[in-house]
Amino acid sequence: MTTLLYTHAACLDHDPGRHHPESPARLRAVLAALDDPEFAPLERREAPEAAREDLVRVHPRRHVEGIIAAIPKTGHVGIDADTVLSPASGEAALRAAGAVSAAVDAVVAKEADNAFCAVRPPGHHAEPQRAMGFCLFNNAAIGALRAREVHGLARVAVVDFDVHHGNGTQAAFEADGSLFYASTHQYPLYPGTGAASETGVGNVVNVPLRPMAGSSQFRLGMTQRILPALDAFRPELVIVSAGFDAHRSDPLAQLMLEEADYTWVTEKLLEIAYRHAGGRLVATLEGGYDLSALAASAAAHVRVLMLA
Ligand SMILES: [Zn+2]
Repeated sequence: MTTLLYTHAACLDHDPGRHHPESPARLRAVLAALDDPEFAPLERREAPEAAREDLVRVHPRRHVEGIIAAIPKTGHVGIDADTVLSPASGEAALRAAGAVSAAVDAVVAKEADNAFCAVRPPGHHAEPQRAMGFCLFNNAAIGALRAREVHGLARVAVVDFDVHHGNGTQAAFEADGSLFYASTHQYPLYPGTGAASETGVGNVVNVPLRPMAGSSQFRLGMTQRILPALDAFRPELVIVSAGFDAHRSDPLAQLMLEEADYTWVTEKLLEIAYRHAGGRLVATLEGGYDLSALAASAAAHVRVLMLA
């Protein structure tokens, strides 16, 4: 059994503009780290483009077609101040969503234990009817709904340790008790959602962390709130919104995590995946804006997946 690595060159071509923090250099840094000989056992697969049927389980068809139609032939088009389209953005976004969908298919088919999707643009801020926060389509939610609708899984969980709250995933899941969303995030911070009082239909767990909180507060929130709720939910698949911008070096936020915290949380999530889901876990890259911290943290995460 193996760990799959899904990526595609098109994800490097999505260009939100010079000086934008969500740069192609992020993915280059992750892929360079995963080029180290210790990662040779990863089975590398090209991310396919997501099918429209997969996208429209989360996003209304008109919204999907509106984003595709907004892709410029040259130059840039801004959806909002942070979220910018370039000519290659459409293919990149389809392959980012397609990576998670293909990874879900592969782990459900037992072709591998788990998978990491090294893709961009990220997805967790993309609400069903609104692209925002560097995100076009909600890659994790699209994979979760494919697992439920195509593979018939009864309960699918997304756990999100990006420093920002995944407002998009929460919006897609909060009314549906067969889905579960849990997040640790700095609060207050963009996008402003993620208060502990936001609990969906009992299927949403938010653990807001104060600026400057670090390892102990993160692990306490996971141990006391998120992991017990996830265990009680008994997911048949665990999807991880793996953002690494809670790292102490990250320039976009003020949490103080280190690589060891990503090792620890990955071990804990795998334990639950093995307890309830036959080990099935699919992780997808969200944020992370300090290139060396991002590369080291993603490597720490994938290293644990490979030991599963
Ligand atoms: Zn983030």
